[in-house]
Amino acid sequence: MTVDLPKHVIKAAFIDRDGVLNHLVDRGDGFRPNGVPIRWTAPFNLLELNFKPGVREALEIIGRKGYLRILVTNQPDVATGHIDSSEFARMMARVGELPLDDVYVCTHRPDGDCACRKPAPGMLLAAQKKHGIDMSCSFMIGDMESDIRAGRAAGVRTVLVTDTLSVETSADHQVSDIMRAALLLP
Ligand SMILES: [Mg+2]
Repeated sequence: MTVDLPKHVIKAAFIDRDGVLNHLVDRGDGFRPNGVPIRWTAPFNLLELNFKPGVREALEIIGRKGYLRILVTNQPDVATGHIDSSEFARMMARVGELPLDDVYVCTHRPDGDCACRKPAPGMLLAAQKKHGIDMSCSFMIGDMESDIRAGRAAGVRTVLVTDTLSVETSADHQVSDIMRAALLLP
């Protein structure tokens, strides 16, 4: 007689970097790449890479809840010339000191047509294939609507991290920081 053992489900928390793990950087009114003013950006060097409080603890909680913690981040700033590639490597090495289980980086330019730059779901789908993740019990945690759209396209539930609660969003949940996201995950 064979017994059907319950299948082990592999679930993941897909986690954005800038604005979730680390603070965005305020460039004021003078930063106008290609003539377009952008006030808040990703850090451009190691000194500007400052993790938000409680990030390590939040990632540890997410891990203890049984989720693979998979970073999925758009990083076009080397391609667009805002960051030196060796500085970028140093920054990602610092990020890699956090308790993460895998890291996916889209380094393509915003005007490219890659399948990995969020809101496209390419990085999430690649991780799903690699780790055998069940998307129906997985989550995307991000601070931009493009994160939420990537999560929805990949078939996971979505959590928007935002200082401005009750913002217009298609996310399933809104929280003020990653610790609250960690506590929210079942
Ligand atoms: Mg972000």
